[in-house]
Amino acid sequence: MKPVEEIKNLVELLNRYAREYYTEDNPSVEDAEYDRLYARLEHLEREFPEWVRADSPTQRTGGVVLDSFEKYTHASNLYSLQDAFSLEEVAEFDARVRKVIEAPEYICELKIDGLSLSLVYEAGRLVVAATRGDGTIGENITEQVRQIRDVPQTLPEAIDITLRGEAYLPRKSFDKLNAERESEGLSAFANPRNAAAGTLRQLDTNVVKKRGLATWLYQMASETVLGTQEEVLEHFETLGFQVNKERVFANSLAEVYAFIEKVTAMREKLPYDIDGVVIKVNSLAQQAELGFTVKFPRWAIAYKFPPDLAETEILSVDWTVGRTGVVTPTANMAPVTLAQTTVARATLHNVDYIKEKDIRVGDVVVIYKAGDIIPAVQRVLPEKRPAGSTPLDIPELCPECDSTLVHLDEEVALRCMNPLCPAQLREKVIHFASRDAMNIVGLGPAVISSLFDKGLLADAASLYKLTEADLKSVDGIVSSAPKLLVAIEASKANSAEKVLFGLGIRHVGAKAARVLLSEFHELPRLSQLTETEISEVAGIGDVLAQSVVDYFATEGAQKLVSELIDAGVNLTYLGAVVSADGKLSGKTVVLTGTLAQLTRAEAKEILQKAGANVTSSVSRKTDIVIAGAEAGSKLAKAQELGIKIWDEEELLKL
Ligand code: NAD
Repeated sequence: MKPVEEIKNLVELLNRYAREYYTEDNPSVEDAEYDRLYARLEHLEREFPEWVRADSPTQRTGGVVLDSFEKYTHASNLYSLQDAFSLEEVAEFDARVRKVIEAPEYICELKIDGLSLSLVYEAGRLVVAATRGDGTIGENITEQVRQIRDVPQTLPEAIDITLRGEAYLPRKSFDKLNAERESEGLSAFANPRNAAAGTLRQLDTNVVKKRGLATWLYQMASETVLGTQEEVLEHFETLGFQVNKERVFANSLAEVYAFIEKVTAMREKLPYDIDGVVIKVNSLAQQAELGFTVKFPRWAIAYKFPPDLAETEILSVDWTVGRTGVVTPTANMAPVTLAQTTVARATLHNVDYIKEKDIRVGDVVVIYKAGDIIPAVQRVLPEKRPAGSTPLDIPELCPECDSTLVHLDEEVALRCMNPLCPAQLREKVIHFASRDAMNIVGLGPAVISSLFDKGLLADAASLYKLTEADLKSVDGIVSSAPKLLVAIEASKANSAEKVLFGLGIRHVGAKAARVLLSEFHELPRLSQLTETEISEVAGIGDVLAQSVVDYFATEGAQKLVSELIDAGVNLTYLGAVVSADGKLSGKTVVLTGTLAQLTRAEAKEILQKAGANVTSSVSRKTDIVIAGAEAGSKLAKAQELGIKIWDEEELLKL
């Protein structure tokens, strides 16, 4: 390929990756892959400066600013950092600095893997918090940042100050968030950095509050009389900001390397993600002397940790059908050690991914691991491709039921559309019995598959027709069959939201199931409602409502519900414990507007515990309307009907 063409292709590809990373918070490649391509582009641009394009990622900082937020123009630019991918590159940085500063003192800090924030305080009060954006203009996320507990709203002194730092999601909060998202049927965030960025872009500030973001502050952006970076950090501490303690001074490269080595060793033990070490000239006067390029300060460099990578061979590819009919490819590989574990399988995501990387059986590939998830293929090594290799066969028929597979318009997934596909039926029952659904202990994927193979199971309702003899026919569970039968029987008493989640309706996760049934109480009632009635519930969007209606519109779903009723499965919501003699017994209450201290769910729980019946629309039957900020038509209607109106304080007194 001609260099000019390669530059064009790289710019387009990197711009796409940057959009996915910065704007959509959903990267499709590892940072290491992005960095590799970026380095290649920089190399080509150095060699052919006449072909540097205006839209090249090397010519700007960060991403684009989202329209959904008010724009904020930074008083001074927020820069990126020049990366060093090896110790030699750190040494080159040191040599560049020493050309200007004779004996520099460095301060080495952790490179936090979050997203940059700028905080502006006036007279000691937080007035603006903004993202870096393109470096000049960021997104105004002040209300979101007010929800981060460790960011002071007011300072001990009434000063004007602008400072910069990193917002991040501690690993524990990240794991919790992803577990919740998975149980709600939502896709998991790729890493804590993207989760933090996605969180700060939530328009609903309650969501931000719940997710447990935190900050480390590391840079002064207003005029200061202080002389060094260390003094700046100490000043931040006295003002009540979070400042990372893992920092050292270094007067030589050897001391810098020693810190990198120490941090590399402790990296995994830290409760948050870091992606390297930032080395800065400590003196602010010397920093000013060194200055900036268009993109970076010349007084700092970011040493980036090398990624966990391994090379192995693809032996075969499995295509498996999930409960929603999505057919997913997984590579079986020659076992190899990666990030201290032996791995033999890697996800290939979908057909587009396979085609884009041209992954074939017999290929030697570089794999990487992102977080705890199953490894993925970073790239194919074309020089190691065996002679006579052919592109991977993409199945046209479902591997389980032979029906034609389709690509739905808006998705990359390949789908089996046959509702009677045995794989889908089996996966649905596996989901129905799983922990967050009916939680039938002992009824895992292997037992369910075996019962399917024997023709003893067809769907969720048929679970309740199983006999002890049926269960005993499965190898390995002869002695535990009576106990398993008891567990199946006991699951009939579960609250209805467990059943609803277990049905595996698209977009209906555990939380949405609970919200829906705490509103409508009876699953059969929910199955008869219209999209408008469902989407009126707070927290339920149109897509989810439509999905519920579409599901129950099918003959199969109605049949399944009636079979579950016949089997004696409880379809009533048992969630809230309603006290009959509570302060609000027999009262009908409507919540409207945004509450300052409570979430909707918390408010509802308080009301239900006090015996109230919480409904969503105001009518003559309503006894009390609880109005938060920006309450609209419901409040107006309540005033018109002369209904008692409470504020949040009164609710809290309960
Ligand atoms: P960067 O992440 O390499 O470094 C600059 C940032 O580091 C600063 O803006 C600051 O927010 C942060 N930082 C953390 N700790 C710091 C400290 N102690 N002192 C100063 N700054 C600190 O640069 P970037 O411009 O934010 O992002 C570029 C990187 O993003 C790439 O190297 C790549 O790894 C990643 N990226 C990945 C994709 C993808 O598709 N995977 C796409 C675009 C960018």
